[in-house]
Amino acid sequence: MDMLIRNSEKMFSDIFLPEEIKEIRNEARNFAEKYIKPKAHLLNNTVESKSSFPREVFDLMAEHGLYQIPFAQDVGGRGLKYPTLATLTVMEELAYYSAGATSALFDGQALLVGNTLDKASSYLREQYLSKLVKGTFVGAFATSEPLTSTDLSVRSMQSYAQKVEGGWIVNAHKRWITNSVVAEYILVLCATDHGLTMFFIDMDNKNIHVGDPDIKMGNKAQLTADVHINDVFILDSYVVGEVGKGLNVALGALTLGRMGIGAIGVGMAQSALDYAIHYSKNRKVFGQALARFQHWQYTFSDHALNIENARNLYIKAAYRYDIEGNAEIEAAMSKIAGSQLAVEVSRDAIQVCGAYGFVQQLKETGEYYPLESIYRDAKIGEIYEGANEIQRWVIARNLFGRAFSG
Ligand SMILES: Cc1cc2nc3c(=O)[nH]c(=O)nc-3n(C[C@H](O)[C@H](O)[C@H](O)COP(=O)(O)OP(=O)(O)OC[C@H]3O[C@@H](n4cnc5c(N)ncnc54)[C@H](O)[C@@H]3O)c2cc1C
Repeated sequence: MDMLIRNSEKMFSDIFLPEEIKEIRNEARNFAEKYIKPKAHLLNNTVESKSSFPREVFDLMAEHGLYQIPFAQDVGGRGLKYPTLATLTVMEELAYYSAGATSALFDGQALLVGNTLDKASSYLREQYLSKLVKGTFVGAFATSEPLTSTDLSVRSMQSYAQKVEGGWIVNAHKRWITNSVVAEYILVLCATDHGLTMFFIDMDNKNIHVGDPDIKMGNKAQLTADVHINDVFILDSYVVGEVGKGLNVALGALTLGRMGIGAIGVGMAQSALDYAIHYSKNRKVFGQALARFQHWQYTFSDHALNIENARNLYIKAAYRYDIEGNAEIEAAMSKIAGSQLAVEVSRDAIQVCGAYGFVQQLKETGEYYPLESIYRDAKIGEIYEGANEIQRWVIARNLFGRAFSG
């Protein structure tokens, strides 16, 4: 019996990686092996409900200091030299077992909410980011609405905040909001009379209503729901960034989120590839192992090449971001590369495993099989945090210039 191994151990050289990143990879892998792997089938297959938020995993991540990794020491973070690279490395490792949990508990919580608070006023940063680092609250990040999501323009956005003495009256209806069913605080992008503005809002308010979680194709551990905010007063000090500059605030976090989706895609692709190689070495067809067919050797060689490229892309994006403070082009490229790859590798992995790729649980033995959930989870990577068409637009804008790309 050929054992299931991590092919990245043989194929990926970490020759260029800083020592602190190698240590973070080990730490995150140990965490994922110990705490995510044993409950992966539950995280990836339990139908969404208000009670299915993976609180236990969230608490374990906090307890083991994973939320300290992206942030500076003054708010209780680790103060790493390459915090973005470290964060994405954690995401690849967690997504090896559960893309949904990674997206909700790390991308949503640490990258989108945490990063936005990191760039907020010193009052909001000190008050709330230090609590997020300790894992004392769950946050949500809301830009999407029923009628608009990709198009985040003042013209399209229905959520509106009216300026009043000392603050704002917010009326908003947001959709697909990750973690909202349990969140204590929410970042909300609204139209105002002077452009879009981002607000940080306490959810403990009788005028805020959150619906039941959506039932989705995949990412079951990532609970999304509609959020209604009706005539809620928000103090001026809870505006994040400048009034009218909320789109920049949102896109700042989403640039990091896009790299994160790239890293999640790499984790899923690696997981599917490892499983397929293991299975094809053990399964016999026509008197020989499936792995002896050159068709599959070449198929998975191509996937290994693409995993190498996608991993290097997110690493470069994060490295550049840590050094230069921006990496828009690499972030767009790494999101496309990682998310497409996860769909392609999981599709071929299911194909080579046949029915054992397609099944979720085999009733005869009670065994769970991982590929069908990876395939289901992979698709959303091509859509959320800026659909891949938008990432191509970002690349085209840099290639052709705004006069041509718009
Ligand atoms: C699991 C999950 C979690 C989510 N979490 C959050 C969250 O926490 N916060 C939040 O605010 N939102 C969240 N979303 C929403 C998500 O970001 C949006 O669904 C996504 O941005 C796409 O928006 P849309 O579905 O409204 O599609 P639309 O904006 O209607 O776009 C539909 C499709 O049109 C195409 N398209 C759009 N623009 C162009 C263009 N210019 N050129 C060519 N093609 C184009 C793309 O293929 C796109 O997929 C989440 C969604 C899901 C499913």
